[in-house]
Amino acid sequence: MRRRRLRIALLALPALVVSSVLMATPSAGADPGESTAAGRSQLEDEDGARLVRIELTGADMLDKVNDAGFDIEHGLKRVPNGIEGEAVATADEIADLKALGVKILGDDEGFEWPEEADGGIATTFGARSVEPLTHQDTVRVVRADWFTTKGQGFLYVEARTTEGQQASPIVGMQVENDSGKNTPFGFARTMSRFIDSGQYMFHRNLFKLDTRPRQIKVTSSTGGVTTGAVSDWLEDAPPPLNERPGYKDNFIEGYKHPQQLYARAKEIAKQYPDIAEIIYLPNKTNGYQRKAQATIGGTGQSAVVVSSAAWGHEGGNDITVEFVDRPGAGLPLGVEVTGKVIRVLLAKDAAGTLASTAAQVSTVLETQSQGLIDRAHPYRTNAGTGIVAATTSPVALTDFLDQKRAGAPEGEVPRGPATIPVLRIGKHRDGRNPGVLIQAQDHAREWVPATTSLESAERLVHNYKTDQETKKIVNDTDIFFILSNNPDGANYSFYNYASQRKNLTNHCPDADADPARRDSWGVDLNRNYRVGSGHDGYSGGSSSCTSGTYQGPEELSEPESKNIVWLVEKYTNIKFMMSVHSNGGQLFWQPGAYIADDEAFYWQSAGRILSQVKAYRETVVTPENVGGSSDVLYSSAGNVREDLYYTYGIYAFGWEVGGSVYNPATGDWQGGSFQPAWEGDPNLVSGHSETMEYANGIMEMFRIAAEWGKDKKDPTSDLVPGGGRFNRPVDVHFETSEPATIYYTTDGSRPTLQSPRYEATEFREPGQVFHVTETTTFHWFSVDAAGNVEKNYDPDKNHGNNYRTATITISK
Ligand SMILES: [Zn+2]
Repeated sequence: MRRRRLRIALLALPALVVSSVLMATPSAGADPGESTAAGRSQLEDEDGARLVRIELTGADMLDKVNDAGFDIEHGLKRVPNGIEGEAVATADEIADLKALGVKILGDDEGFEWPEEADGGIATTFGARSVEPLTHQDTVRVVRADWFTTKGQGFLYVEARTTEGQQASPIVGMQVENDSGKNTPFGFARTMSRFIDSGQYMFHRNLFKLDTRPRQIKVTSSTGGVTTGAVSDWLEDAPPPLNERPGYKDNFIEGYKHPQQLYARAKEIAKQYPDIAEIIYLPNKTNGYQRKAQATIGGTGQSAVVVSSAAWGHEGGNDITVEFVDRPGAGLPLGVEVTGKVIRVLLAKDAAGTLASTAAQVSTVLETQSQGLIDRAHPYRTNAGTGIVAATTSPVALTDFLDQKRAGAPEGEVPRGPATIPVLRIGKHRDGRNPGVLIQAQDHAREWVPATTSLESAERLVHNYKTDQETKKIVNDTDIFFILSNNPDGANYSFYNYASQRKNLTNHCPDADADPARRDSWGVDLNRNYRVGSGHDGYSGGSSSCTSGTYQGPEELSEPESKNIVWLVEKYTNIKFMMSVHSNGGQLFWQPGAYIADDEAFYWQSAGRILSQVKAYRETVVTPENVGGSSDVLYSSAGNVREDLYYTYGIYAFGWEVGGSVYNPATGDWQGGSFQPAWEGDPNLVSGHSETMEYANGIMEMFRIAAEWGKDKKDPTSDLVPGGGRFNRPVDVHFETSEPATIYYTTDGSRPTLQSPRYEATEFREPGQVFHVTETTTFHWFSVDAAGNVEKNYDPDKNHGNNYRTATITISK
């Protein structure tokens, strides 16, 4: 069932929105434009892997590419003919991508929004006569949103035509805008038609405007016309906490590796024992450690891949292996072991020629090395039929962890399994307050999420005594910070391979277990959960152990994901979670948050969180990058958010910090990256600015949780228009005073939680409309996100009638 929804969500987008409250919530958004360039140097110099921009024909191809093991997830955006994104790929992988039909984009390629008014569809479609309207509502405005950033206004418009799928001729759409009250429409622009996997999605446009329009008019080339009001997106945010007098912030002076993060977390718990403590997660990681390895004996069929039984740092790195060519003829294959020195005495035939195959040598190494070698095998998928060559000298095995990448921090990384500390902050840590889990850096190379989370923790403890708003948060919530949930992978990213995404666990069979594959091993922790997982056949996780989205050998195979489940099962007051990632400037929740009150609550929360992000330096997370996660182009089977939402009812957000920022100097959007330079032009992409602005958003999430916990107010709702006498059929819908779910009946029965739930019909649409043709009585009640029921009605009891009632009487 969920698979279906994932797919549909990308195509038809059934996000089910209800209530006038939600309709008033700012929606829709702008495209951050191209995001080439800048700040990626660290990702381009490793093993020939580099970041490339790609274009796919749509979600179907995205699934295929993911399944084939490619690491494509961040910075995805819709373009007219499908999806553009980024991949970290080697030259070989780029060839494979091309074979899958993926287009590799050059620096100057890719979709860009047209800037200037072009006269609209007449320009594009010629002087074709406009056909008369054949049916109503041919054209529909889905969103029309105004926002400003750094002095520049933008209008984002999304509209649909019922003729959008028509291929010949393709139906064009144009948008015009007014310039305020009582001004005429004008400035006609051609809208871009978006297609995904051959399926019409919508038309869109984003453009700069200096004056906020009040209304837009959208016209299709087949004659549909409609107008729509323009809404504000993230305008007029209240001042963020860090603009309050005396409020302290800006605590982080650079990127932090896991040891630094954990040390600071423990220090905070020591310094502020009345409001902070450390909880240790029970499952140690599999460790920053690797077996010592070498590929010896030749190439291809003659190569032998050798792995030590002991971890490199526990003796594996001391092992040497030599393939010895002894004088003589007719000699058998043998192995001599002295201490950590292994000498493989190669066989010779009667003519005195070397005669041991790679397969034979592998076998004797596994069986006769006195336990030093527990894995030896031919290279990749070879059978090992080639005769191995002698080595010129002993080959030292290595775990490669001593090989530091350029720019690695000073110091040594502790080897072996790590225990992950959770920094818990709250005045009352006894379960009485709503818990909030901030989980950063599931993905190793995402460095900004860790500093953003630590900055938020610092703001809580430093301002607790002096700032009323902070005090409220700490008094009324119970916050759990996991500053890095992937310390092994993060260390590998800091010290060895900057682009590391997964943890360090090597689950690969022999074909992918040679050391040249070491940067591709590991499990994508955010694909290792149980709900809608790749193991259940859902899209977005890979079964290939070298894939960037490898889901692991089974659900919850990894200690890091087991720990999260342990935490939320032990601390059942956790009601909110934020899975913090980078980069892309997106805020989303699990696909299928289709229970109406949840969807509305998410939207309302998102608006608050992103307004606070914007308040720092006017970074706008554009509304098209906000919503249910498939809607934001993020198909991720087995992710943590879905598990926590569906299994435990936790409001689970995901966000990609560090998105595009508008550069007023150039008039362009500058794209983000995983590890942007820490300091930089405060107006442009930098680790420091991202940390500060997204910490603002996390602080707002805490306030939302605190208010949620204090929400004792019942929602109210109305049927619009209300009950009464009508002399013709009438359309009615529900409205609520706050994000809330409505349960209703029309058969005279008492409404319960099993009654039909009022839902929206389509993505980003107003709630369902009832076309009432005969006299009908509605009974209903509403429930808000905190579980308060309208008028204190108890739907579980089988008596009591303080639900709402309205009768629509149709007199004929
Ligand atoms: Zn991520």
